[in-house]
Amino acid sequence: MSDAARPEPICRIGIGYDLHRLEPGRKLILGGVELAAKRGPVGHSDGDALAHAICDALLGAAGLGDIGTHFPDTDPKWKGVSSLLFLERTGTLLAERGFHVAWIDAVVIAERPKLGPHFPSMRQALARALGIPHERINLKAKTNEGLGELGRGEAIAAQAVAALAS
Ligand code: MG
Repeated sequence: MSDAARPEPICRIGIGYDLHRLEPGRKLILGGVELAAKRGPVGHSDGDALAHAICDALLGAAGLGDIGTHFPDTDPKWKGVSSLLFLERTGTLLAERGFHVAWIDAVVIAERPKLGPHFPSMRQALARALGIPHERINLKAKTNEGLGELGRGEAIAAQAVAALAS
């Protein structure tokens, strides 16, 4: 096929954001990995803010709405489940529409614990759930400089951008 006849590849970008309150007595699950911490996220599922932000970025890029539409927190089916399941289902929805994940970049905003050492296992877990190479996921960490709820360790937030190709 000549270059002129080749259809334009479709590239779509999506953005995702999530925040969860942290309370004692909950496991801190982030990027599909359990971290040692005194507090964990309050949520209907496991409260994995990073997985949720990535999920929303992917759904947004595909024009498929948001995580609340597909996995409502009013549905007992999702109570206490691993958020990696949301990513697995989202990966299937994308594949059904001919999209593949070209790139994911995300930032977690948390005062503690230190996240960098856990990023390799988070990338592995997230990539496995989505069925993509872990090299297509980049993770970053920020503190909130001690300011506000995030800075006081009362909440954890994540932002993500995803690019899809078809
Ligand atoms: Mg959430």
